[in-house]
This record gives sequence, structure tokens and C-alpha cells, in this order.
Amino acid sequence: MRFVIDAGHGGFDPGACGNGLREADLTYDISAVVSRELIKHGHTVILTRPNKGTAPNNAVTKNAELSVRYTLANKSNADVFCSVHINAGGGTGTEAIVYKVGNKATTYARKVVDNLAPLMGNRGVKDLEQLRRNLAVITKTKMPALLVEVGFIDNATDATKMKANIERIGCAIAAGLMLESYDIIPKPMPTPAPKSTPTPQPNPVTTLTINGKPITTDIILTGSGISYAPVRILAETLGYTVEWDNATRTIKLTKETI
Ligand SMILES: [Zn+2]
Repeated sequence: MRFVIDAGHGGFDPGACGNGLREADLTYDISAVVSRELIKHGHTVILTRPNKGTAPNNAVTKNAELSVRYTLANKSNADVFCSVHINAGGGTGTEAIVYKVGNKATTYARKVVDNLAPLMGNRGVKDLEQLRRNLAVITKTKMPALLVEVGFIDNATDATKMKANIERIGCAIAAGLMLESYDIIPKPMPTPAPKSTPTPQPNPVTTLTINGKPITTDIILTGSGISYAPVRILAETLGYTVEWDNATRTIKLTKETI
């Protein structure tokens, strides 16, 4: 498909300003990501404002600047026109504007808003009649056209989110224009299961008796069918003499036979 991506404002016109941000800068940076993503997916992109510092076609008045946008769009034979803007004037969240809700552009607008909403909040898709606005980039473009207002530059929370998420916002808009979903909220890294340190098991109490006489020791170990008991206590109970030869590491058990 062919898309016209229109970064709102620029050049002499900074657009809305607030919280240390300029609309023209945000729309340019977001549009650059949108464009990159669409191209990556095999689409053609026409940018109305290809340079960050200058207005389209170096226009010096707002009217000239606007006419360049829709004239270029109409010449481009594009399938969809998407203008990227940042709102102002008190409020929060993303909204998209189309000529008439229900037209073909509405499908793209809804998907774009739905993709941005988990991060920015959802103000829905509106039309010019509802908003009592006349936007040249919507009324004068021949193809399905939408204008997305990502968030409010004069709302500190929106401004912070937009500044920190240019990349994700651009990807979400691009996905929406391709009618695809995009998870804009970063998934938390799965927390690794805590390493299980084996809790030491107390030795099961094992009782040893020799000829009915219980042997008291706490070092009788049993397991896998084998029992370990101290030699000396066993042997001496049975009447043996126990000798330990450290040099040869030998235990000698001897029993005097009379
Ligand atoms: Zn604007």
C-alpha cells in the first residue's frame, strides 16, 4: 500500500508547546518511526515533511504549508493519508479525527486509537462535524484520511509518556495503519523463580539395639537400603576391642576368646 505520513507543523510553526516539548518535534520523531515501520513491512511512504527543521516545501505561511501537504498527498496516488498531531487545551488521551465517522478512514483510525489507548487513554474516533472543526488535510485529501492527536502536550502525564515512548507510539500507529494490533505496554520481564535451596532434612530418628540394648548415638544414618553406624559403639557393645591404626587407616576389631 501507499501511505502519506504527515508530521504536523514544522518549520516556522512549532505547533502546540508545553512541558518543554514542541508539537512539531514530537510529530516529526513519531512520523519517522511510523514511516520506517511501514517501509519495513513492504509499504510505500510519502512524507509531507521529510526534514525536521523545515516546513513542507519550505513554506513560510501556515496556509501555504497546509496546501503543500494535501497537494502532495493528492498527487501521490496514496491509499491512506495519516496526519500526526499532538493535542493541547486541557485533556488527556488519544483521539483520531476523520471526515465522517463510519467512512473508510474510520477503520484505520479506530485501529490506531485502539493501539495507542492502553498507554495514552482512549478519547475515541471523532469527525469534523462532532468537533466543529475544519481540517484542510482531511477535507482536501482525496483518499481516506485520518488525523491522530496522540496526547496532550499541556498535560504533564501525557507529555511524559509521549516523550518516553516515541518508538512505541510510532510502532502502534504504523501497526494500526496496517490494521494490525500492537502491544504498546512493555511486557514486564518474567521474574525468575527463586532458586530453591534445599531445606536440610533432620536425620530421621533411627534406633539401633544390640541384643535388646539400645545404642544411643545421633550419627546413625540410613538411606537407599544401607545403614551407617559408628563402628566403636557397635563393636564394643558386642565385646570387641577396637583399635585404630592411623598410619594404615585401619580399624582392627578383636575379641578375646577364652
Ligand atoms: Zn497540531
